[in-house]
Amino acid sequence: MNREKRTQIFERLRAENPNPTTELHFETAFELLVAVVLSAQATDKGVNKATAKLYPVANTPEKILALGEDGLKEKIRTIGLFNSKAANIIKSCAILIDQHDSQVPSERKALEALPGVGRKTANVILNTWFKQPTMAVDTHIFRVSNRTGIAPGKNVVEVEKRLLRLIPEEFLMDAHHWLILHGRYTCIARKPRCGSCVIEDLCEFKKKQS
Ligand code: SF4
Repeated sequence: MNREKRTQIFERLRAENPNPTTELHFETAFELLVAVVLSAQATDKGVNKATAKLYPVANTPEKILALGEDGLKEKIRTIGLFNSKAANIIKSCAILIDQHDSQVPSERKALEALPGVGRKTANVILNTWFKQPTMAVDTHIFRVSNRTGIAPGKNVVEVEKRLLRLIPEEFLMDAHHWLILHGRYTCIARKPRCGSCVIEDLCEFKKKQS
């Protein structure tokens, strides 16, 4: 795919949704961090339902530690893998208090040192809260990048590096959200909705569906 096509794709995705953001609900960096950790292999809707109950009671590292692991599990038990997620969040809270003055760090290395925070989660925090042009490649972005030809790659790191290199700078900050939303609602895994896709004529996928 050439640069001109890529630019047109992002111009159209931007026109469709000029101010994209995550569908997770949060008010602070810490709330975002907890929501992103909870969202692994879970839907944003499910996470929002749980955090709507959790955050009024505990939305700081100190308050979650005071809630305790069992108390936290109770609040998030509707979310998949809640046992290990609760254990990771409790450990992360202790680290944030001890090493980061109870704040969410803005450096990738410090974020990835928190239990349950991998490269993808760190990328989401860096992009969504700290406004850094990172690319958290999830299953949606991986699929859309490969199908369309925007940035094909064999694995998520390959796709991440290509996207960062190939997406024109003016779109880099928001590209992550546009691609996720496009994958979630239009270029869906089982049957892409090519007939109602705004980039259908630019997409290079060979098996388009009507
Ligand atoms: S045309 Fe189809 S395959 Fe291409 S991006 Fe749109 S929905 Fe996905």
